[in-house]
Amino acid sequence: MPSDKLLIADAAGLRPVGSLPGIGPALADALSRLGLERVQDLWFHLPLRYEDRTRISTIAELRAGDRVQVQGVVEAVERGFRYRPQLKVAVSDDSRQTLLLRFFHFHRAQVDQLQPGRRLLIYGEVRLGSQGLEMVHPQYQRLADDAEPAMEDRLTPVYPTTEGLGQKRIAGVIAKALALLPPAEQLELIPPELAAAHGLTSLRDALLYVHRPPADAHVEQLTLGRHPAQQRLAFEELLTQHLSLKRMRAAVRRRHAPALGGDGTLRKQLLNGLPFALTGAQQRVSDDVAVDIAKSRPMLRLVQGDVGSGKTVVAALAALAAAETGYQVALMAPTELLAEQHLRNFRHWLQPLGVEVEWLAGKVTGKARQQALSRVALGAPIVVGTHALMQEGVAFARLGLVIVDEQHRFGVQQRLALRDKGLEGDQVPHQLVLTATPIPRTLAMSAYADLDVSSIDELPPGRTPVQTIAISNARRVEVIERIHAACSEGRQVYWVCTLIEESEQLRAQAAEVAHAELSAALSDCKVGLIHGRMKPKEKQAVMDAFTAGELAVLVATTVIEVGVDVPNASLMVIENSERLGLAQLHQLRGRVGRGAVASNCVLLYQPPLGQLARERLQVMRDTNDGFRIAEKDLELRGPGEVLGTRQTGQLSFRIADLSRDAHLLPAVQQVGAEMLRHHAKRAEQLIERWVGGAARYAHA
Ligand code: ADP
Ligand code: MG
Repeated sequence: MPSDKLLIADAAGLRPVGSLPGIGPALADALSRLGLERVQDLWFHLPLRYEDRTRISTIAELRAGDRVQVQGVVEAVERGFRYRPQLKVAVSDDSRQTLLLRFFHFHRAQVDQLQPGRRLLIYGEVRLGSQGLEMVHPQYQRLADDAEPAMEDRLTPVYPTTEGLGQKRIAGVIAKALALLPPAEQLELIPPELAAAHGLTSLRDALLYVHRPPADAHVEQLTLGRHPAQQRLAFEELLTQHLSLKRMRAAVRRRHAPALGGDGTLRKQLLNGLPFALTGAQQRVSDDVAVDIAKSRPMLRLVQGDVGSGKTVVAALAALAAAETGYQVALMAPTELLAEQHLRNFRHWLQPLGVEVEWLAGKVTGKARQQALSRVALGAPIVVGTHALMQEGVAFARLGLVIVDEQHRFGVQQRLALRDKGLEGDQVPHQLVLTATPIPRTLAMSAYADLDVSSIDELPPGRTPVQTIAISNARRVEVIERIHAACSEGRQVYWVCTLIEESEQLRAQAAEVAHAELSAALSDCKVGLIHGRMKPKEKQAVMDAFTAGELAVLVATTVIEVGVDVPNASLMVIENSERLGLAQLHQLRGRVGRGAVASNCVLLYQPPLGQLARERLQVMRDTNDGFRIAEKDLELRGPGEVLGTRQTGQLSFRIADLSRDAHLLPAVQQVGAEMLRHHAKRAEQLIERWVGGAARYAHA
């Protein structure tokens, strides 16, 4: 029976690593620091890259960038002390060329060993130094005078490892584990008929191949992760991730949520009071949400929509449905500024309807905080804030809906933490996630497999596309003249200073400098200044003056990235635009082009431009389409950064790469759906196999 066979496979794979011969407690301990606790964790501990020690290259054929093995005789040794200790060893081979080995740290014994005339077998990366080709800190071993070096008959894998656990040892342990691999059909967890339908090859062969590729393997293909064996494993890893997100979703969906039907009165009042009608897309998405939250199953919905597509009003309508039903709403934003903007919008819209909006951010402290907390605990209908909403001590009376803006800056964990604030028995709040970064479809299906997705794919009417140009800082004076011309036509201008990864203080200083420069150059225009170090009241006063048209130019830090809305502003200059990523540039530019006037964006850059920066600016010039920009961003930066999850490790794969392997996703989803329907046990085992060890590691 197949189920018995599975048990056998598990039996070998589930044994602790300490049960392998020759593995003592110290080694087991080092392995466990890598999350390697069971034999099967070792099977799936995959190489990062490979070294080719199956052949010897002649020095004459070396090129910079090669990672190769050479054999040579020491010609000369020189110890330098000028700047710092250095050992330079010249070796030559039969091709009569010389290669320089350079060491910056070395022992006395090494110097003794590397005497002229000694024969060495050397492995390292070739680079072009000041004295020709060289290797810095190569690996090497001494060869007996007439011995032929022993060649490896396979490529040498290089594994992720930890302090005190060398490559030889970890490779040795993995080899012992691989000896216990069960026969192919027992190892396989993807049901044979599904594997066959999607042309999946044997998992066992794939594992053996990636751990020990033959000498004639295609090294470049392996390095890029495009070898069929790697693709087979990537498929399984993506499948596992998909299954685990789906499982998480299913677990949530088994719970209950309050049905937020409402009678529609507050919503009607809001719509009647708005100076605009909803776009078709806003209407459709609001309906999706209203239908979801009226049910007693928890909603898990992602609303994506480009900058300016009008997500806030969709969120407000959902919030009012909760308020009509007598439940509380928490709206969480990733930055204080964005949260403040929501607070202003919500208060502006909702207070006239008699719905109070509480404020809970990091800087709300002392008595004000205590009071806010007690109102929340007593059932204040709407609470807006930052991650401070998730802290201990924040308790809700009846939390019914959690709205998270700009999801990509929060991790799944944080979203869950806020949701758990509303946990009551098996009842959880509904979740609405808003994101301004349109996520490419393939990625959304994978990274957000636990969410339903709605798109606001239409901008409010009357927006004009922004014309974008890139100009070198050398032509700054021309740009300032252009601002002058725009101001005399009654247009308003943003000047954005970008200093990233510096302190708020340095950013503020840079803005002050630019403010002084522009004030002097544009003596007949009023130039205002806003930055993150100003008090909320001061910021608001400046924003109000700009909104009222009293200021012609607003010098700002990236503070205005979110939440500034002045339709008459039709020119934006972004300084040092080469330093920003595509998503941020797109967000910033979204602040112009909001009125009927034709708008322009000038990307000032400091030459020389690197390749990546050049491509980014080109993309910005070519398109205003947030969707295309996001896709390009994915291509240039990789999914971890696009989703902002790199730090939290949410999407760290062992072998899969979402941008490289996106073509696998449709099949992954089909197989995933089948397995959840008909092979739930195998799906569990698959998750345990790929995620089990890593999950324990993450909790450690
Ligand atoms: P985002 O999706 O970027 O969060 P906002 O919700 O901030 O967008 O909306 C951007 C601007 O468009 C706001 O000034 C908002 O009041 C306005 N807006 C929203 N919906 C409409 C609409 N249907 N018609 C006209 N203006 C709208
Ligand atoms: Mg918004």
